[in-house]
Amino acid sequence: RRLSMLAYAPEPAVSLDGARLRCEVNIESMRDFETFDVAHTDGVGLLRTEFLYMERSSFPSEEEQYRMYRRVVETMAGRTVTIRTLDVGGDKPLPYFKVPPEPNPALGWRGLRIQLQWPDLFQAQVRAMLRAASEGNLRILLPMVGSLEQVRQARRVIQEVGENLREQGYDVPESVPLGIMIEVPSLLFVLPQVMAEVDFVSVGTNDLVQYLLAVDRDNSWVARLYQPTDPAVMRALEQVATAAKAAGVPCSVCGDVASDPVAAVLLLGLGYDSVSVAPHFVPAIKFAVRRCTVEGARRFVRELLECSTTEGVKQALGRMREQLF
Ligand code: PEP
Ligand code: MG
Repeated sequence: RRLSMLAYAPEPAVSLDGARLRCEVNIESMRDFETFDVAHTDGVGLLRTEFLYMERSSFPSEEEQYRMYRRVVETMAGRTVTIRTLDVGGDKPLPYFKVPPEPNPALGWRGLRIQLQWPDLFQAQVRAMLRAASEGNLRILLPMVGSLEQVRQARRVIQEVGENLREQGYDVPESVPLGIMIEVPSLLFVLPQVMAEVDFVSVGTNDLVQYLLAVDRDNSWVARLYQPTDPAVMRALEQVATAAKAAGVPCSVCGDVASDPVAAVLLLGLGYDSVSVAPHFVPAIKFAVRRCTVEGARRFVRELLECSTTEGVKQALGRMREQLF
């Protein structure tokens, strides 16, 4: 089956009735490019920059970051490259950056929270990103956003950095799209306001499930309770897509939920524009999307949204899986 799936890698993910789901990839380092053909993807939907910070003994300089972002943008040859600002802390410690032990690391000093409190770190990364933006189609993605204030604060820093760069003679595009991860549940209750202030959104289901269900994503004692198929997660995914559509904001899912081909069909039915997954999942997603209709996917969505239990959602997903494979 896996071999026959590979035949779908070069095809676009277009349903039988012509709806298209963009298939982007999650990347951590330049090494990832050895594992897939960029011509088979629509872009990088998530570059996790923390790996550039992790595999070393001190913070990377602006210049080192610029060189890496530029290489990614060049390698993607005009396709969208979505670079996430540093998302360390919580489950991703940095060996050379000791923080005092926290009682609840997942709720603590992590992601954008660190960068907003530590302007030097944030500015160096944003400078590197904006410099690379002149070489291709780059977008900036903010992790762990919990409020509109944080979006505004980050946007202000990015604008200031852009102005400084231009004063110093760098060629920086007038506007670089700024998007956010939807992974902190507070945003679910202010979606119209959020959509009015961002250029795109990407749902991080790994953290969203953790925070929505109050279940640690890395604790094996509660692994059974970590259920991406919880009806609350389905509703959250639906509400994000609906609010994004209403505002004309492109929306994507870059958490692990999207890597299941059946879930990709569900996301197409919900109205998501794209999924972003580890490169080896792309062929199976294309296979599934090419075998469904968007009408069928929407019926499937209605069925799923009526489920009141995880078990019900799982059974509905199972029926769809049988239809598709
Ligand atoms: C997520 O939270 O779903 C996500 C994509 O980010 P990470 O797994 O890097 O936290
Ligand atoms: Mg996350």
